[in-house]
Amino acid sequence: RSGRSAALRARMEERLLGARFRYLNQQLYTGSSQDAARLFRADPAAFHLYHRGFERQVRRWPERPVQRIVRYLRRRPASLVVADFGCGDCTLAASVKNQVHCFDLVPLSPRVTVCDMAKVPLAAESVDVAVFCLALMGTNLQEILGEANRVLKLGGTLMVAEVASRFEDTRAFLKAMTQLGFRTVSKDFSSSYFYLLEFAKTGPARPGPAPGLRLRPCLYKRR
Ligand code: SAH
Repeated sequence: RSGRSAALRARMEERLLGARFRYLNQQLYTGSSQDAARLFRADPAAFHLYHRGFERQVRRWPERPVQRIVRYLRRRPASLVVADFGCGDCTLAASVKNQVHCFDLVPLSPRVTVCDMAKVPLAAESVDVAVFCLALMGTNLQEILGEANRVLKLGGTLMVAEVASRFEDTRAFLKAMTQLGFRTVSKDFSSSYFYLLEFAKTGPARPGPAPGLRLRPCLYKRR
């Protein structure tokens, strides 16, 4: 009997955690990056809950996108300086020899510099590679990618790994990226879970609206 009620309680707790995770996740994808920063500053426990939920989701995938970015960086010189926007647990920094600046809203690891990714404490044109691995969350995408453009050297690489179902119109998205100062170098649609896009910085972002720069929120189903 007590075994059964313990199992029931555990199942209820799982459900509650799942519901809170989905709620937080929705807030992150439907608000700006500044809203996300405020949310986690006010409630750091929410952040840890979010990350547990995120881990559980990504573990179901055949491959973690961050591993693809690790493989990519290992093929290139270790002297390249990297900025990891929305680094999470810093798997990337821990897996490569490069110097990696890790940015996130709350430190899951001592390597993290806590900040909103729309405003990172790096000098202009100071990094060779900027990474967004499942991290293009805020609605202010143009501002966030503009920040990546600012810190990247001319010709530097922007790597984006993002959930496939978030793309409404991939061509329009890539076209908008040219306005933000990025040329498409390669696109990998081979995984049904996520797209891997590589860009090179061609120059500063051009001002003005970039209507194609839209991603659907990534809403997880209740399981
Ligand atoms: N890149 C990691 C984590 C992806 S989860 C990986 O692939 O495993 C997305 C991360 O982006 C989370 O850690 C979340 O806290 C972070 N994030 C979301 N909005 C942010 C913001 N405005 N500024 C900095 N980090 C943000």
